[in-house]
Amino acid sequence: MYTLCAREDELKIRGNILIAAFTGVLVSGAGAPGADTSPVRFIGKTKYLNNARAVVAHTIDDSTKYVTNCIDAMDKHGIKATIFVSTEQDPAPEDRFFTQLQVWNLWPRLRQAIDNGHEIGSHARTHPCGRPDTEAFCSAAYTDYEVTGSRDDILRRTQQPYVWTWCYPCGHCANYDFIQKEIAAAGYIVARNYPGEAQGRHIRPDLQSWDSNPYNAAYTQVVQKRGGAAKSEIIDVAILDAKFDEVYQRGGIYNFMSHPQWLDYGPEGFYERHLAHISRRGDVWYVPMGPLYAYRTIFERTEVRALSPAAAKARFTVSNDLDPKIYDGSITLEFRAPAGMAILSSGRKLAERANEMTDRWTQEYFRREGDHVYVTVQSNTTLEFLFSVKAPAADAAGVWKASYTNPDGQTRETTLNLKVDGDKVSGTIASQRGSAAISDGQVSGDDISFTVVRRGNGDEIQVTYKGKVEGETMKLTMQIDGRDPIQMTAKRGS
Ligand SMILES: [Zn+2]
Repeated sequence: MYTLCAREDELKIRGNILIAAFTGVLVSGAGAPGADTSPVRFIGKTKYLNNARAVVAHTIDDSTKYVTNCIDAMDKHGIKATIFVSTEQDPAPEDRFFTQLQVWNLWPRLRQAIDNGHEIGSHARTHPCGRPDTEAFCSAAYTDYEVTGSRDDILRRTQQPYVWTWCYPCGHCANYDFIQKEIAAAGYIVARNYPGEAQGRHIRPDLQSWDSNPYNAAYTQVVQKRGGAAKSEIIDVAILDAKFDEVYQRGGIYNFMSHPQWLDYGPEGFYERHLAHISRRGDVWYVPMGPLYAYRTIFERTEVRALSPAAAKARFTVSNDLDPKIYDGSITLEFRAPAGMAILSSGRKLAERANEMTDRWTQEYFRREGDHVYVTVQSNTTLEFLFSVKAPAADAAGVWKASYTNPDGQTRETTLNLKVDGDKVSGTIASQRGSAAISDGQVSGDDISFTVVRRGNGDEIQVTYKGKVEGETMKLTMQIDGRDPIQMTAKRGS
């Protein structure tokens, strides 16, 4: 279920976290009352939202007019990105040639992008770069004006509830611990780097999972036709696609970055051909970088506990102590549960989804694969599993007395002793002529059916029963081979 990460050190760190998380869950599940007898079993939290096999995260840098073209291209293919903007509103006239600062015209399109599942991240206010990025330069450049000011600009200009993600202008200053601490103190939960542009080192960091240091976070590869050293471009679509294929096969995170001013647009250009290759897959989670990093924290910090079932078949609390404004994403929980159950979160019935593309991080729904159910919910809720129709199937359990008139006009008495386990019914049926085990018993909502094979005089006769459970009464139709059906009514009794 958990695939290998690209780096040895990553693997070790991720492995420890996963083991710790699962140990906690198993202990709390097994110790809870009713956990062993419930038809619903909690299996675990899934590594990615909606139990996706792999993840695609995209980031784009700089406030140029090409951001609009880039968002249009992404939306054509269903790719979701973190859009890093420098938020300076009114550059001095002598700076207006500096094309990274054209955010003024972008805000309406950025607000639309947020509604469409993208994220706006901060790229400072004035995009400060310094070559070399000395400690003196960085401590002077990373002012409140740049770090918290740009954050507040985004909050003021858009409907986004929080600014999760920072991007170091020119990739500078990312290696300084004191700068990382400043970014963290401003409330960002992840900061993306861009190492060694001049040396071509930014092209393929080849990170295929979450970075162990979220404040100097790398990505998988660059997709753009320029960027520093002349040899550093990657616009060969076959090479780009092959890297995605490798990450997808490993079940990893494919996190690629671009500068919109260094792309070719249109279906024949390398950028959109690559987007077409990686897009619209039912088993991939398309998500911006901030919510992706938030998911890891939600995964690690969320606890699931079984409660006593009460009226429902099973109940679980899903809780963490995270700030819901920052960690506003859903988490996916895997259960084993019989078919035909309704699932409620805080009393609201969750919609069932087919296996389709996952491209939002705050929704609630469930998805079934065989007897496994993947429930995607916001934390700090109570989940209830119940049979969706009004007569609960378990009501069929117990002793029932029935009488009927056979075709010869004789009245017969029968006693049913039924056991129900999920949607399966077993037990016995007894009359003056002896007792027989029932087989193929099923209950679905208030519908019940079972079969009894009677043996006598060398013959084997199959009798089928079908009907409905209505509170204290069960109406059944008995069919013996090809003969006319016989109606019978059973009442609860002992
Ligand atoms: Zn930049």
